[in-house]
Amino acid sequence: MAGKLIIGNWKMNTRAQSAQSLVAALLADPVCNQPWVGVAAPAVYLAALGAQLAGQALQLSAQDVSSFSADGAFTGEVSAAMLRDVGCRYALVGHSERRQYFGEANPALLSKMNNAMAAGLVPVLCVGETLAERESGQYLEVIFSQLAILAEVSAGEYVIAYEPVWAIGTGKVASLEQIAEIHTAIKTWCLQNAKPSANIRVLYGGSVKAENAESILKTENVDGALVGGASLDAGSFRMICQAAG
Ligand code: PGA
Repeated sequence: MAGKLIIGNWKMNTRAQSAQSLVAALLADPVCNQPWVGVAAPAVYLAALGAQLAGQALQLSAQDVSSFSADGAFTGEVSAAMLRDVGCRYALVGHSERRQYFGEANPALLSKMNNAMAAGLVPVLCVGETLAERESGQYLEVIFSQLAILAEVSAGEYVIAYEPVWAIGTGKVASLEQIAEIHTAIKTWCLQNAKPSANIRVLYGGSVKAENAESILKTENVDGALVGGASLDAGSFRMICQAAG
């Protein structure tokens, strides 16, 4: 199953010391220190981790990127160029927590995607429905409306992560049938609408753990995983990377 992509999303966790210790543990492990493995660390620690990761295979990701591209009067923002400058390869875009708590929506997310790609980052666009949207049967429409910006992006490399909101941090994993259905629908949608339309990797995220990683990663049209809670423990993250290797 080589060719999968595993990104650990640390969210608002760690301190300078624990972040560096976690990266040191991953670097010391040939299962994790691979070019198809990445860690999305808090912005404030990216520069130090970028220095620690220099010349290593393990990749660095940001958890967000500014919708503004040029330097200037945008207090609190971190631009794509800054992220690239400190060694990031990836940037998460539109994680459901950013959509929920910070009101992020398509127009800004399109700018984020374009800014990331223009700066040489690979954005990871996160999409997924809430429990209410799933129960009402509207989940495919919701996901397609979140994907819509991919018809407008300036061409470049990006990744999609399907993360059902009801499965994030809840311990409730989508069934393999549900995952296969959505991943196949996303790829079909992309073939018809996205720019570029082919060879787009679609990761699954939402309570991925050491115990369920192998079956999820073997599921049709699953090209990797976005791992939250389990990525904070080097041993658990290692087992997920091993399941992908
Ligand atoms: P989780 O988070 O693995 O803790 O469910 C996934 C994510 O939000 O990226």
